[in-house]
Amino acid sequence: MELLYKSTRSENETATASQAILKGLADDGGLFVPTSIPKLETSISDLSKMTYQEVAYEVMKLFFTDFTEEELKECINKAYDAKFDTEEIAPIVKADGAYFLELFHGATIAFKDMALSILPHLLTTSAKKNQVKNEIVILTATSGDTGKAALAGFADVPGTKIIVFYPKDGVSPIQEKQMVTQKGDNTFVVGINGNFDDAQTGVKLIFGDKDLAKVMAKSNYQFSSANSINIGRLVPQVVYYVYAYSRLLANDEVCEGEKINVVVPTGNFGNILAAFYAKNMGLPIDKLICASNDNKVLYDFFSTGEYNRNREFILTSSPSMDILISSNLERLIFKIAGNDANKNGELMKALSSNGKYEITKEMKNDLSDFYGNYATEEETGKTIQQIYEDTNYVIDTHTAVAACVYKKYKKETNDKSKTLIASTASPYKFTRSVMCAINEKYDSMSDFELVDELSKISGVEVPQAIEEIRSAKVLHETVCEVNEMQKVVKDFLNI
Ligand SMILES: *Cc1c(COP(=O)(O)O)cnc(C)c1O
Repeated sequence: MELLYKSTRSENETATASQAILKGLADDGGLFVPTSIPKLETSISDLSKMTYQEVAYEVMKLFFTDFTEEELKECINKAYDAKFDTEEIAPIVKADGAYFLELFHGATIAFKDMALSILPHLLTTSAKKNQVKNEIVILTATSGDTGKAALAGFADVPGTKIIVFYPKDGVSPIQEKQMVTQKGDNTFVVGINGNFDDAQTGVKLIFGDKDLAKVMAKSNYQFSSANSINIGRLVPQVVYYVYAYSRLLANDEVCEGEKINVVVPTGNFGNILAAFYAKNMGLPIDKLICASNDNKVLYDFFSTGEYNRNREFILTSSPSMDILISSNLERLIFKIAGNDANKNGELMKALSSNGKYEITKEMKNDLSDFYGNYATEEETGKTIQQIYEDTNYVIDTHTAVAACVYKKYKKETNDKSKTLIASTASPYKFTRSVMCAINEKYDSMSDFELVDELSKISGVEVPQAIEEIRSAKVLHETVCEVNEMQKVVKDFLNI
């Protein structure tokens, strides 16, 4: 049966999976949601005998019903291949009383690879299915991780070009080096003299420019987005929760049907929403533990029922979670509003005009699957240090936020259920923060000295993604002012 998607903000816009992937955002500004969440059709014990790619197919076929088996399998096999440094794709490490699901074994060593390695294939297949002849131009603003993962995913994919804008002085040295050394004739990386918000706003303006869209169409181009509200990013993230549970079962770590908790270090609410979808598909998950850093807008929301972004934006050592508007939360709000697009639309209007909204008591009661808490900078550092000292396992700053919140949860509730922690980045991506948390003496070393030191103390080989940038040539040197972004795009496309 065909599963359709509809907007969270109006009753009348529906789309097939491939149309929703192509569009990214609905015309009314809402997010596409499936009209119902499909149930798993394969038993978990059967899934436990399958490879990652096979599990991916069993999950994705239920959401992307207008793709043929051949199309979907081709997308999956092109995405989850030797770009990952382990055949397991997402291995589990047992440490410190929890299971760490390592989602950072892809090309750019952060969890964004899990979805961005398949999105280009889903997108180009969707274009073909809908007779789109234009070349797709992916336009992205990044605060660091999304940009590189999208570049790696789209590099040299026929029928696409990708343009990434990043704040020139707002990303880590390793993140910048990763981006400006990107190969591929269809890639273009631009630093802007401004912050991430400026980049994001500039990109939205370009997206919304009707005249530019006409000029683009004349040259057979159209824009699309690789950002995390695309359903083509959300669904591939459901896969690894199903896969992880099936591995725990295969390894006799859980009994069939035994409920586990899942802890997710959260920013835009995409990763944890995928876990919530997995639970709704029938995966035995009990609590969804939402971990925030000092930008604890979600913790406050789960405690009070009020979402309020009117607060100071705090720069932390877990920059991929420094966010005050968690876009994907809208999909959860829509659900607890009883799938009521008008009710959701009003709350989102309040968010954009007043920066806040409050949900009703009944809606709040529907949030009982979730537990929210946060970790301060000091607690995050201490957690990295403690886990390293007790177990020799080194985790990155984002994962440490999750591990710290899990400790708080256990203390508060005494819940002894087995727990999976989403480990979202390799410690090599945030080497300085990680090493200085372990011992202050490391502060005087250079970035690449720290890389070698991390390898020594953890016994983990330096990932290819880091080796590559040690000596890689800088290929992108364009820097522009915020008001020149559109011109830069036109020049690159030659229009
Ligand atoms: C993007 C990111 C997150 C946040 O994920 P969301 O889906 O936005 O909640 C957490 N950790 C890392 C390392 C990330 O790159």
